[in-house]
Amino acid sequence: MEQIYDPERLATALVATAIPHVRGERLAAHTTIGIGGTADFYLTPRTEAEFNEAVALCRSVRAKFTVLGGGSNVLVSDAGFRGAVISTEKLCNISVEKRAGDLAFIRAEAGVPLAKLTHFACENGLGGTEFLAGIPGSVGGALAMNAGCFGRSVSDITVSVQAADGRKTVILSREMCGFAYRNSVFPGGGIFAISALFLTKTAKKDKIEETTKAFLSMRRGQPRARSMGSVFKNTAAYPAGRLIEESGLKGTRAGGACISQEHANFIVNVGSASAEDVRTLIAIAKAAVRERTGITLEEEIRYIGEFT
Ligand SMILES: Cc1cc2nc3c(=O)[nH]c(=O)nc-3n(C[C@H](O)[C@H](O)[C@H](O)COP(=O)(O)OP(=O)(O)OC[C@H]3O[C@@H](n4cnc5c(N)ncnc54)[C@H](O)[C@@H]3O)c2cc1C
Repeated sequence: MEQIYDPERLATALVATAIPHVRGERLAAHTTIGIGGTADFYLTPRTEAEFNEAVALCRSVRAKFTVLGGGSNVLVSDAGFRGAVISTEKLCNISVEKRAGDLAFIRAEAGVPLAKLTHFACENGLGGTEFLAGIPGSVGGALAMNAGCFGRSVSDITVSVQAADGRKTVILSREMCGFAYRNSVFPGGGIFAISALFLTKTAKKDKIEETTKAFLSMRRGQPRARSMGSVFKNTAAYPAGRLIEESGLKGTRAGGACISQEHANFIVNVGSASAEDVRTLIAIAKAAVRERTGITLEEEIRYIGEFT
């Protein structure tokens, strides 16, 4: 007979480990949009071994689990998550692994914020990561989503990824990561990014700073209110924001959520928004764009928890 998830079994199993964890963690505090109910358990493994142990433990007691990075591209249900959220926030080592001529390889763990990666590269006189400045996620989330902007994506600088499957750690070459537009093998694939090796090139610090500033200034029009970034993927022919804007939806509100006036592909939290408010706006945008153009928009954001 199939065993069902019993939080007490997971609690008992966790106590027997050294994995840092808390029970009943409010996930809104871990998402950039500030939305989300409570997770039964919130685990913060400090090493690759603890990460593998956490995954194995959840599987052994049939607990659902999900991995969370910076929480900048997820919508968490108001009901939260019945199971364990495994955060990468304590996997935050970064180093220059090897230099070869004017090339250098930076090793960054999954929980390293992209801002820290770009700052570290700059401090070490290494160029190539500047385009990532201003994307508010972690290295692991960026690999999972193949984050990018201005014609570049994280896959362009990735040499390999150290990944965990709950039993062992494997090295995936860039080709094995299945990088595609805002996708890779990582989300939902049963394999999780632990660290990555990024290729960078020696450059003058002031030149790197100048390039970083240029990328940041291109983001100036971006909404400042709390959000998940772009909600929908662009279609091959049109940016999703344009399709939503041309459907006349800028400024549309549902509860505390609003389709941004500045950028129609952003849904912003303008005051105690719930996940259901956001879902309402997503449904409105999809229906309006479909009716007007026949195009079905696809979410870029990932959902955590149960939604009706
Ligand atoms: C203001 C704003 C601006 C943004 N601008 C951009 C932009 O210019 N370009 C862009 O691409 N994105 C942008 N985003 C979206 C977001 O920042 C990126 O997708 C980012 O890479 C997500 O990283 P994260 O750590 O926050 O991931 P999370 O939101 O925590 O997770 C996203 C998904 O990745 C999975 N995941 C996280 N870590 C791992 C891991 N270690 N292993 C396996 N799976 C994992 C999660 O389970 C989830 O499915 C923006 C968001 C905001 C709020």
